[in-house]
Amino acid sequence: MTEQDTDQLRRYRDLILSATGDGVYGLDIKGHTIFANPAAARMTGYELEEMIGLGQHDLIHHTRPDGRPYPKLECPIYAAFTDGKVHQVSDEVFWRKDGSSFPVEYVSTPVRDNGALVGAVVSFRDITERKRAEDALRESEERYRKIFDSSYDAIVLLDADSGAILDVNQQACKMLAIERHKLMSMTGFDIHADDAKDVEEFLAKVRDRGRWETESLTCLAAGGLRIPARLSASVAVFEGRDCILMIAHDLRRRIEAEQRVRKLQSDLSHVSRLSTMGELASEMAHELNQPLTAMMNYAQASKRTLETGDSGAQEKVIEFLDKAAAQASRASDIIRGLRTFIKKDEADRSFEDINGLVAEASKLALVGDAAQYIKFEMALAPDLPAIPVNRIRIQQVVFNLVRNAVEALADGKEGHIVLGTNLSDDDCIEITVTDNGPGLDEEIADRLFQSFVTTKPEGMGVGLSICRSIAEDHGGRLWAEENPGRGMSFYFALPVSPKSDEIDD
Ligand code: ADP
Repeated sequence: MTEQDTDQLRRYRDLILSATGDGVYGLDIKGHTIFANPAAARMTGYELEEMIGLGQHDLIHHTRPDGRPYPKLECPIYAAFTDGKVHQVSDEVFWRKDGSSFPVEYVSTPVRDNGALVGAVVSFRDITERKRAEDALRESEERYRKIFDSSYDAIVLLDADSGAILDVNQQACKMLAIERHKLMSMTGFDIHADDAKDVEEFLAKVRDRGRWETESLTCLAAGGLRIPARLSASVAVFEGRDCILMIAHDLRRRIEAEQRVRKLQSDLSHVSRLSTMGELASEMAHELNQPLTAMMNYAQASKRTLETGDSGAQEKVIEFLDKAAAQASRASDIIRGLRTFIKKDEADRSFEDINGLVAEASKLALVGDAAQYIKFEMALAPDLPAIPVNRIRIQQVVFNLVRNAVEALADGKEGHIVLGTNLSDDDCIEITVTDNGPGLDEEIADRLFQSFVTTKPEGMGVGLSICRSIAEDHGGRLWAEENPGRGMSFYFALPVSPKSDEIDD
């Protein structure tokens, strides 16, 4: 090779070294810089001349990223020309002339001359931008993981084809009482307790429409525990795979709360019935006393008639006994009605004849003197369909409405109550209680259905609010209207075919 060739080669080498964006420099066996390219100078802030001949480690690699000194003996760049291996590092920093530092990725490659180690060549790049992007990505992932894990709902990511569980959040582990690593080796089919057909149908809808939700599916937790849950799912692409993201909302607390409210409601209506009956005790006693006295009179009359030994005695006694039996049946009617009414009711519903219920409840509400001064009329529509209701509670509403009407008429003369039933245009059985009393007290008119609103000295003011919640539990309505002339009408509408979600059992 001529000297001209050698010059040419050196020029090429310099041009290549100048053109590369990476910093490149060469070290002799002592670690002194023997050459450096312009990028190395630019990145470290030194002039090329300032670097040549100086120990590279002392110049730009003297301190660790955390600020501790970096002993030369531990330096991987220098290790290349002692152990003869290539060292690649991406978690260190280089220091600039101005004292600042930047994260680097470098490769230190040993250089041999005739087999003997003579130094190393180092190429490095500033990875500030890459680190920033990585940090941003990591932070974003952490942020999403936190959101994922802090969700109150259980979230499970499934492979759309195999159903394999790809990820779960903390709430899913808690709800199912299964550790994360175990869940990650299971499939979506292992953690539900529904009919496979229902699940397939659900998944088909998710695939078809992109997302779907269902009011109730049952999750299967550790130990076979079944957890009712509302499930929503959507299709997603995760790391290039078709996935289904499932979000399950545990319904146990809601169901328990609803059961507690229902129990309270049932207790409250029971207490209300008992207290009403307590208030009516003396009138009840009076009501029962009448047939009992009559029965006693018929018994005595029968005895006296038999003692006379008259020829027509036998027919007379038979007549007395018939009358006594009628009175006994009247008393037992009252007692039967009373017993049903104060029974603790269940949430059960059965198909009932509303006219029958209404007639029975009003009989109970009209005990006492009321019957004497109030004209009570029933206008019941024939052929009403039987509808699913809670018998006792419907009677409680009718009883309250009729009793309120009786009480509104307590001072008046020519009191008149009409209890009617009819089938409305919107397919409801409407029960109406109309009176010709004084109408509503202005003070309470717009709070009529609130609890503890009463104008009666002994009143509790809970009757109408309980009645309204009974109506709503049946998917029905209860409202009041002032009559054009005098008095009030209360309307109680019950749907003939209540929607299942309207019925609150
Ligand atoms: P209470 O009967 O214990 O007062 P309710 O909730 O049944 O409780 O009734 C609340 C109030 O509504 C009554 O105090 C009364 O002022 C009024 N009210 C109810 N029904 C009638 C009616 N038919 N006519 C006039 N006022 C009525």
